[in-house]
Amino acid sequence: MSGPSVTVDEAKIEANARAIVGLCAEHGIETVGVCKVVCGMPAVAKAMIRGGVVGIGESRLENVQRLRAGGIVAPIALLRIPPLSAAADIVASVDASLNSEMSVLRALSRAAEERGVAHKVVLMVDLGDLREGFWPDDLMDAVRETMELPGIKFQGIGANLACYGGVIPTEKNMNELADWACRIEDGLGVRVETVSGGNSSALPLVAAGKMPGRINQLRIGEAILLGRETIRRQPWPGTAQDAFALTAEIIELKRKPSVPIGETGQDAFGGKPVFADKGEIMRAILNVGREDADVGGLVPRDANVTILGASSDHLIADVTACRPPLSLGDELTFDLSYAALLAVMTSAYVEKRLVTDARTVRDARVLFAGKSRLFADASQWQDAARWGCDPEFADEPESAAWLDWLREGGRMVVAGKKARAAELCASTAAAGLPLGMIWIGPELDFPFALLGVGPEAVAEECRVSPEHLVFLGLRNANEEKAELVRRFRIETYTMEDVDVLGIRETVRRALRRAAAGSCGILVRFDPTVADRGRDGLTDRECHLAMETVAASDLLRVLDVSGREPVGERDVRRWRRFMLSALGKRILAVSNGTATKRNHGGNGGTEPGTAH
Ligand SMILES: *Cc1c(COP(=O)(O)O)cnc(C)c1O
Repeated sequence: MSGPSVTVDEAKIEANARAIVGLCAEHGIETVGVCKVVCGMPAVAKAMIRGGVVGIGESRLENVQRLRAGGIVAPIALLRIPPLSAAADIVASVDASLNSEMSVLRALSRAAEERGVAHKVVLMVDLGDLREGFWPDDLMDAVRETMELPGIKFQGIGANLACYGGVIPTEKNMNELADWACRIEDGLGVRVETVSGGNSSALPLVAAGKMPGRINQLRIGEAILLGRETIRRQPWPGTAQDAFALTAEIIELKRKPSVPIGETGQDAFGGKPVFADKGEIMRAILNVGREDADVGGLVPRDANVTILGASSDHLIADVTACRPPLSLGDELTFDLSYAALLAVMTSAYVEKRLVTDARTVRDARVLFAGKSRLFADASQWQDAARWGCDPEFADEPESAAWLDWLREGGRMVVAGKKARAAELCASTAAAGLPLGMIWIGPELDFPFALLGVGPEAVAEECRVSPEHLVFLGLRNANEEKAELVRRFRIETYTMEDVDVLGIRETVRRALRRAAAGSCGILVRFDPTVADRGRDGLTDRECHLAMETVAASDLLRVLDVSGREPVGERDVRRWRRFMLSALGKRILAVSNGTATKRNHGGNGGTEPGTAH
């Protein structure tokens, strides 16, 4: 390691999120997790989502793209007021945005209409902090006009305090926001679904039970990531403050005087340093500097270390008091302020290392169940560990065995001549392990008996919930089945939808729908959907679909049973689809390993690297 590194502890972030989400939920408030300070690092967003946040808030589209590429399918809201010039990108990338300019809202509406989507907006009200927001006098007119914009869905109002002006959220200013919600509802006859009260600085008010009942959402970053409220920066009860740490190496360690020798002028940054004469001290130079971090926001974990100063590439510390004495090459660890965290996560020079708790790692164990040519060739498993797969094989799996396997966190691939999907769905549903289901194939061959239809309808407890079911890639359906799809309101993406939305977005939407409230996803994949793009998907689209599934970390079961490949060529093609769904990439790096430095600075999410 030639530079410093920052460790990111997923388990602590998840636990922090759970604590904050729990507190807010007790007061009828939903929590949006804000990860702009970590530049949209997908692993952090996933930890927040496991901790219960309802969606993700981000300030930059680059970070949103990183999140999407990293498999985040939860709703994402853009927090920073959108620039007029980026309306088209915004409606394409995020589900919702916070707004304060009428002309931007009009542009978003036009862009959303062109794209055939409804973009949700929260109108911000300036309660005195003097950052974003409509001035209260203008709010009613703004809402009235927003309601008339065809591409826009008015979702509610919000406020942001304690950011620029340092105005503290109080019962008084929060009541003012709540009043506006009532006035809008009474005056304009529109429902104000969301009243988004603010950020981490609002938590003390919530904990004191003084947040007005009308406030039903907070957007929380710092309290989840660093475990602090943001008015006095006190540790928040029930959270850890050390989910992040910066580590740097001692590159020089010498006993030297504490005061420079010779006439002194300005330092490298134009300051005029002052020195206390403590005689000779042990001075350590570390390989971290202002190029990497906001040095003022670093707090040594060892209280015997005192930071003396820093230049672009060096940090100088007094380590005289350290016991046992330090040696050259030792590492020192620092806690980070919000500003320091922002800097280290943004710096391309700081390596990002993910600390993954054994319980949060996507389980590497994969059970390949059934007799199939797809599983036959042993050589393909030689490098499996490298891309995060620990294979086991079972020729004739019983449903009891696969339930145990899934309960213990393993994933499964089911193949073979006999179609097993219906049996899988029914047994997982009956076992209280409801899986969301994405049914990918050209034909509507879903066994509707699973929904309780027809003479072979399965028992009540084995039924699949239609909200967790998505059809994708459909080319043919007879009228009788089409009627069932309509009756049960099953979300369906035909080939035409794939053409319009693109395969990645289609799969993302399907995942989001199927995953909500389920215990992970079963993907039933009929490889004949890939007909080299004649009427169905191209092979590349299939891979992208499977890669999007893999990146979401939601896959529990991949079912390719019911068809066997005939020629050797199809065996290879189908097997590659299967492996893509399990996370194999061309430049495989197993999931959960340290994120290497990349020049974007934020844990690479380029295709071919994990995270
Ligand atoms: C950054 C931000 C937040 C989150 O702030 P924290 O203090 O980190 O909780 C919430 N809302 C908006 C609009 C933001 O820009």
